[in-house]
Amino acid sequence: MQDDSEVHNDIAKSQLRTLLGSLIDDVLLEINHDMTIMHSNAAGISLLGDDLIGSDLCQRLTYTDLKDDFHSAIATKKIVEFTTTPSGFSVANRFRQLRGRMLYLDETTVIVLLMDMTLQHNLEKMRRDFIANVSHELRSPLTSLIGFVETMQGSDDMETQTRDRFLGIMADEAKRMSRLIDDLMSLAKVENEEHIAPMARVFIENIVQSVIVSLTRRVQETGREIIFTDRRNYTDQAPIILGETDAMTEVFHNLIDNAIKYSFPESTISVDMLTNNANDTLTINITNHGEGIEEKHIPRLTERFYRVDKGRSRQMGGTGLGLAIVKHIINKHRGELIITSTLNEKTVFSVILPLAQ
Ligand code: ADP
Repeated sequence: MQDDSEVHNDIAKSQLRTLLGSLIDDVLLEINHDMTIMHSNAAGISLLGDDLIGSDLCQRLTYTDLKDDFHSAIATKKIVEFTTTPSGFSVANRFRQLRGRMLYLDETTVIVLLMDMTLQHNLEKMRRDFIANVSHELRSPLTSLIGFVETMQGSDDMETQTRDRFLGIMADEAKRMSRLIDDLMSLAKVENEEHIAPMARVFIENIVQSVIVSLTRRVQETGREIIFTDRRNYTDQAPIILGETDAMTEVFHNLIDNAIKYSFPESTISVDMLTNNANDTLTINITNHGEGIEEKHIPRLTERFYRVDKGRSRQMGGTGLGLAIVKHIINKHRGELIITSTLNEKTVFSVILPLAQ
């Protein structure tokens, strides 16, 4: 027969289970003092396996000091915190970061709460990587600038020709830093405002045409040409999207500029406009003929600072941020960017945008 305090304890436990069972993301386990798992909410079963109940907690988590900490939670009756990953070889779990808390409940039970911190952990890592990348990208032109300044300071009788060459390099490095800062500011702005869908009605063809005109001289200097073709079935009405003119100009400027940079000399860059009546979207394909992009790089191209060939991108004045900016602007416009490439043949960047009603 249970006495009153035991009955009271059972009711409290059952209420606790009901309450904590409703936790959707966090795992709640009831553990015997010999570390056997006695009860789990649904989140625990889905994270740690169907055969969880009756197993040893130490076999489910990789934390090496778990046993010592568990006994210390019982001895001190204080909350003990730890971080761990789930055991096992599943790829999803291997990179999962859990924050755990152990709490003495009564003479038979310890409560273990596990919170999934993977997202926060990954965001924190992305933030650290980003700062490291920005510092690196700014440091290399700065180091070069300082080097030239010191060389020039140390030589009173430098030939005019050498001096002009050095000043030319210094100007290029300064411009590179300036471009990088402009791109970083652009990226920060569009990331902050990505959730606000633009409402202005804009004639997208005018934007594309004016970007082409602004790049004409550069294209002609390199012996290339850009051909714009309206391939829509019904061409009587100019297509209108809900958008921001400046942001869309940046998208097409970046994509057509890349098409010029990464295409064979004297090749043709095609800009084609099509509509899909089934889902009321407009597609603008920018096609260039060049070395192309290996399949494995394609999903990563819109990551900040990701370049297939870092040296080549730098040499052509790239910052590695162009496609990241493009992707965020297209997201803001509720559109899609699709990249396809055939090595040594052609690369197509397709911008798909919803048409305004
Ligand atoms: P970058 O400033 O280096 O051009 P982007 O973000 O614009 O940075 O592009 C990232 C990388 O994607 C480039 O470094 C290049 O390797 C690749 N890339 C972009 N556009 C093209 C293209 N049209 N053809 C081939 N490769 C491209």
